[in-house]
Amino acid sequence: MLASNCIEVTGGFAAQRERVLDVITFCIDEMMPRKRTLDIEVKLWNCEKHEKALGQCLFVGDNVFQIDIDNKQDLYNLIVTTCHEMVHVKQYSRRELTERFPQSFWHGELFTDGRCYPWELEAWDMQRPLAHKYIKEHTDWSIRDIKVLDKRS
Ligand SMILES: [Zn+2]
Repeated sequence: MLASNCIEVTGGFAAQRERVLDVITFCIDEMMPRKRTLDIEVKLWNCEKHEKALGQCLFVGDNVFQIDIDNKQDLYNLIVTTCHEMVHVKQYSRRELTERFPQSFWHGELFTDGRCYPWELEAWDMQRPLAHKYIKEHTDWSIRDIKVLDKRS
């Protein structure tokens, strides 16, 4: 039997947990279709207030990831943020982004300037195309319709 990725989502509403799980599965199929050993723990909570970010991705090591996603975002932004954090999962799991605390390396090159980290630029570039493809292929909403839905959708 093939091993399979392990994804666990906690917190938030049931509809948010199901949506985030579905978006993560889509992102793995899109960016890392051959991965079978990812272990991703997602916590939906008030993270913008506490962490000053709508989402964050921690690479624990050995294909294990912890993702925080703010649960007060509307549906559209929840999908976009999930796609953003999954780009970071892709970067770590392919070793494009590596860390030797407190330093971060992009394709082996040390980066110390926080203004335009290349991994953030890539995540910002990819988050919307990924989210829009997910919305088109996996929901019945148009992009315009989904933008007015609230977080309980
Ligand atoms: Zn980021």
